[in-house]
Amino acid sequence: MRFLSGIQPSGTITLGNYIGAIKNFVKLQDNPDFTDFLVFVADMHAITVPQDKQALRKNIRSLVAIYLACGLNPEKVHIFIQSEVPAHAQLGWILQCTGYIGELERMTQYKDKAAKHQTDGVTVGLLTYPSLMAADILLYDTDCVPVGQDQKQHLELTRTLAERFNNKFGETFVVPEPYIAGAGAKIMSLTDPTKKMSKSDENPKAFISILDDINIIKKKIKSAVTDSDTKVKFDKENKPGISNLLTILSCCTNTSISDLEEKYKDATYAEFKEDVANAVAAEIEPIQKKYNELINSDFLDKVLDEGRDYATYLSNKKINKVMNKVGLGRKR
Ligand code: ATP
Ligand code: MG
Repeated sequence: MRFLSGIQPSGTITLGNYIGAIKNFVKLQDNPDFTDFLVFVADMHAITVPQDKQALRKNIRSLVAIYLACGLNPEKVHIFIQSEVPAHAQLGWILQCTGYIGELERMTQYKDKAAKHQTDGVTVGLLTYPSLMAADILLYDTDCVPVGQDQKQHLELTRTLAERFNNKFGETFVVPEPYIAGAGAKIMSLTDPTKKMSKSDENPKAFISILDDINIIKKKIKSAVTDSDTKVKFDKENKPGISNLLTILSCCTNTSISDLEEKYKDATYAEFKEDVANAVAAEIEPIQKKYNELINSDFLDKVLDEGRDYATYLSNKKINKVMNKVGLGRKR
């Protein structure tokens, strides 16, 4: 079974990306059901909204170092940069010509991000983002795509595009299955716990970056927005802030929410937040240490070269097949 997932270098990885995505990849890389494991840096996705050139370059390399520092093992996982494998853009175009505008306009991420970028212009790429994401997945006959709750809609569209193409041109793509992790699939913003935590949030207090100073991380958690009640209890509807912190603590300590509710039944919010802050710091500190060892190493480039070559080999086979099916170019 083949596994594939990617993250945009649109900022520094947040605690949400770590819990909802990378932590699961690290667990799954040891699952013997996955005979092939690909993880990439979705840099072409990142430019659907304005990016500073220098910051983008820095974030690309930084994301690779974070993947490795969090425990992805390059002996088991092929790590590559999306833009270094041209077949992604090629298939992305063909899938743009397979999807319909109405389908893309219905995507929640498009609506949210378009609203945010009204003043600096909404790019066509922001609308067609899901066609490129479908290409990322379908190029590799991916069986299983682990995504956070926020990407579920895009994965459904990927399935629709794959089925539509297969019906029109004959069996070409594997229709992928989503793998949505249970707890932690959606970590919420610390300043508005009804909104998801995002690395591109304009308010840095809303998210915890994996590379934030440890004291800042603790501060952000201690000042996270909660309700005016006093009970530490999981209730997403009425206590979204406390529920979010319970989820974070549960994921960082591998303890169930109900055990935590029991443990903190007489605690104040301040005591509870203190423990959440320390648990998050304990999870992130060793990652930062490894990150600092890796970020300037040649090893990173070796990993990326191997990943690029492997992804190019697989994806070229697929794109040639697709071009033949559609009737593009000369027969090959
Ligand atoms: P951006 O704001 O630029 O879209 P993002 O934080 O949403 O950044 P993505 O690169 O879009 O990050 O997503 C990377 C992965 O992290 C995806 O698998 C996504 O489902 C997951 N993810 C993103 N945000 C969260 C979150 N708050 N909780 C859990 N998982 C998340
Ligand atoms: Mg996102």
